[in-house]
Amino acid sequence: MNRTFPLPRLVVSKCLGFDHCRYDGSIIPDRVVDALRPHAEFLPVCPELEIGLGAPRRPVRLIRTAQGVRLFQPDTGLDHTDKMRAFAEKFLSGLPPVDGFILKNRSPSCGIKDAKVYGPQDKSPVLGRQPGMFGLAVVERFPDLPVEEEGRLTNQNLREHFFTVVFALADLREVEQTGRMQHLVDFHARHKFLLMAQSQRRLKELGQVVANPERRPFSRVMATYKAGFRAALAQPPRRPAVVNVLLHALGYVSEGLSKAEKAHFLDLLAQYREGRLPLSAPVSVLRSWIARFNPPYLAQQSFFHPFPDALISLKDSGKD
Ligand code: SF4
Repeated sequence: MNRTFPLPRLVVSKCLGFDHCRYDGSIIPDRVVDALRPHAEFLPVCPELEIGLGAPRRPVRLIRTAQGVRLFQPDTGLDHTDKMRAFAEKFLSGLPPVDGFILKNRSPSCGIKDAKVYGPQDKSPVLGRQPGMFGLAVVERFPDLPVEEEGRLTNQNLREHFFTVVFALADLREVEQTGRMQHLVDFHARHKFLLMAQSQRRLKELGQVVANPERRPFSRVMATYKAGFRAALAQPPRRPAVVNVLLHALGYVSEGLSKAEKAHFLDLLAQYREGRLPLSAPVSVLRSWIARFNPPYLAQQSFFHPFPDALISLKDSGKD
């Protein structure tokens, strides 16, 4: 079951392997970004460079003031909040259609949840954590796109889900560009198991959208479908739902399997359900059976080959 994959278009923090743009002039090699390079189209951005801070530079931090949280540079006494907000607005509104974001965690600019917030005085303790100024603008403008911090992508389950979603969204983006209803119908057919693992309800609703009984124009059907598809994939699937999908798939090939093969597969499923194995373990066994028996309905399902194989082998951090 060979698939060719469209390139997901991803906005990425530039310091994650693209430029020496951190405050101290350093660059951060990132294994996930490196692995994705041949398989994705990256749009790297360093918001702090873009607002003219240069590299190296005196560090900035978030501070809580009577006027709200500000992006402040203690060594110069300069407040960069307005510049950063204006840059984020201009940059994000000028983007071509994108499939996701990988941003640097803990940064007062790029972080999406855990940038430290200080008081206005020099030696203030940390008062709390919140998204960085650019990261906040991203999640507010693109609430239904996958936005991840590089730290979370060291976790295998989160990473596999992120890859699954961005490759599916890139596929959908290409379908949208064709403007052809039949391509959307085919898209829905090949992502059926993927949707089934996320939500039976969404699968049914989206099936009704593509059936298009009211003969609405493609652009309107696409807009409804896209919103529903993104919402369906917003969270990683629940393991019991995935196990049901795998058992359903087993039904298509089980006639040709020995008792020992089935027992081995059920054992892998039990380990996956308990969180002791990643999804790719039972899926790779099913894929070998799909190659052996070639059931056409299963062979076309993206669920069994959601992203390029080269991305499976990244090591897990073991963190949740
Ligand atoms: S975290 Fe963002 S602002 Fe900071 S160096 Fe990296 S890209 Fe630039």
